[in-house]
Order: sequence, then structure tokens, then C-alpha cells
Amino acid sequence: MANTKPELPRQIRVSIGTAIAIGLLEGKLDAEPTTAYLMTYHQSKCRANCTFCPQARNSQSSAELLSRITWPQFPTATVINAIQNAVENEKILRVCIQALNYPDVIQHLITLVKTIKNAAAVPISISCQPQNRENIQKLADAGAERISIAIDASTSKLFSQTKGIEANGPYTWRKTLKLLRDAVEIFGKNHVTTHLIIGLGETEKQAANAIQKLADYNIQTALFAFTPVRGTFMQNRPQPDVAAYRRIQLARYLITNRQACSRNFTYDGNGKITSYHVEENTLHEIVASGKPFQTTGCPDCNRPYYNEKPTGPIYNHPEPLSPEEIATIKNQLKLTRLRASAFYSLSEASVSDV
Ligand code: SF4
Repeated sequence: MANTKPELPRQIRVSIGTAIAIGLLEGKLDAEPTTAYLMTYHQSKCRANCTFCPQARNSQSSAELLSRITWPQFPTATVINAIQNAVENEKILRVCIQALNYPDVIQHLITLVKTIKNAAAVPISISCQPQNRENIQKLADAGAERISIAIDASTSKLFSQTKGIEANGPYTWRKTLKLLRDAVEIFGKNHVTTHLIIGLGETEKQAANAIQKLADYNIQTALFAFTPVRGTFMQNRPQPDVAAYRRIQLARYLITNRQACSRNFTYDGNGKITSYHVEENTLHEIVASGKPFQTTGCPDCNRPYYNEKPTGPIYNHPEPLSPEEIATIKNQLKLTRLRASAFYSLSEASVSDV
């Protein structure tokens, strides 16, 4: 007779920073994660073949890696006990379960969500490729608070090259967008996130337009800086230019908060953002707040050093920025007031010209 009670996966991967923060390992952290990051454990690699990902079917990377982070495995019951304590002590404010693509993954996610929810009063985000609307509904019914379906690339062409048919991967741009829109209908506005990697070959204009299109569908964008990992197809590609990343972070902040629209930005011939067409004092205050440059995504997700070494450059700041860090970013953005235009524009002049 078939066993109808789904089993909790015996092992689960935990990001090294999370493992230290919740007491599974000893170590020192430069910044504490406020979300507990878990990853489904599977003996073989992912069924997909994303060219930037160490978990990809054809990558030669360690199976313990995702981005530049190590994810050691632990018994699931031990991890859930540790999360329970960390939630009670208010060290952990959210749990995020990242999932590889393998045959039983949705059932594993459902069981994990239900078990964690029984153990701790904590919102749970799922980051996975659900494949169909029914699976999205099942994850919502299990009690997940949010879902992220990674689109990763800013254009359909880059998507095809990095995750789709040209990468021998199973995904399509059109279907991923459809699933994201299904997810908004099921989880509700502003409860759906996607991950967007900057540095795959897109222009700033393409990235801004992708963020705008997603925001128009009420999908939040979490920005990641491309990180080359040894053993992946893209291992030799450099990380994105920091100044370009800052301009896109600012674009994301303005678009997400409905303070600007990418269609009104000005771009140069290479697609570089040259003006946001936002009132200058407003933009000045936004930059000075440092908020656009903090980690983006689900509430309380700070992903410390996911894309960067602690020595920098820090693409996504895991904590509120210091005045020195904001001054550095102003220099990176090379902000110049063009009073005549009443818009903040970005030029090649240095901040000392302001
Ligand atoms: S934004 Fe953070 S919490 Fe949300 S799915 Fe992505 S990694 Fe997880």
C-alpha cells in the first residue's frame, strides 16, 4: 500500500552565515543574517543548467556552493529546532527556502513549510521554479508567506542564453513571466519576488525596463550582482561595474516605490542611465538615506556577503549604511546637480564638483 504521509527530507543545506547565526556552527560574522537561508538537499545536482550557477547540471563546482556561499548539510530536525530557538530570541525574522529543480522538490517544500510553521511563528519565503500554477497554489496552501521565482536575466535573449534553450536548460522567459503573474494572483500583490542578476550582459536600460515591467505586474525585484564561481560556464566573466550597479539600484528603488518610471529615464547611446527625471531634492534625499543600496527582496532579507567578499566592493549592503559608505556611493554615482533642468542627472564630473 502506498505511503500517503509525505516524509520530511532528512537533510537540508544551511548557508554558512545562517548556520553560525542559529548556533549550528561556531564562527564570527561581520553581519548577522536576519533571515535563515536554507536550501533543499539533493544527492545529484539541479535538473536545470543555468550558466552562472554552481548547482547547474553541467557545472563542475562544489555541490555545497550557491553564489559564493557555502551551504553545509545538517539533519533537518536539528535545523528546525535551531530555527525555533532563533525565532523565539528574535534573531531570525524570516525563513527562506531555496530549492533546486528535482522530481520531488515541491512535495519536499510543502512538508518543510508545514513543519517549520508548526515549530515557529515566522514568515516563510520559497525561492523555486514551481513549473505550474497548481504547485504555486500548493505552496500557498501549505503556509508559505511569499514566493520568489527567479527570472535572473533582464531580456528574453539573455534568459535563453543563461537559463533557457541555448543553455540546455528547461525554462522559457514567457513561461517564467506567466508563472510570476499566476503567483501574484495566488499570493497577492507585493508578496511575489523575482531575482534579477546584474552583470549577465544587459545594458542599464534593459535592466531598468525589466524592473519596470515586473513592477507593473506587482512583482518585486531583488537585485543580485553577478558573481563568477569556479566550475560554472560563466566562471571567467567579471562582476558588474559598481557604478552601473549603483545606478540600477537607484532605478529599482524609484520604480518599486512608484517615484519614477523607466520609460521616462534618459539614457546615452550605450543604454547607460543619465537621468531619472526625478525632482532633484527628492533624489538627493533618497541617495542620502542609503536605502536603495541595501539588500533588496523580501522583508527582513539581508543576505550578508552573498555577492561580495567582506572586504568589498559591497554591492548589496546588509545593514543601514554609514555616512562614509553613503559618501563613497555618491562618488561612485558621480552626482552633479544640473539646476537648469530641475532634474538630477548623472555625469562624468566627480562629486567634488557638486
Ligand atoms: S529575496 Fe531573500 S528571502 Fe526572498 S526569496 Fe530571495 S533570498 Fe529568499
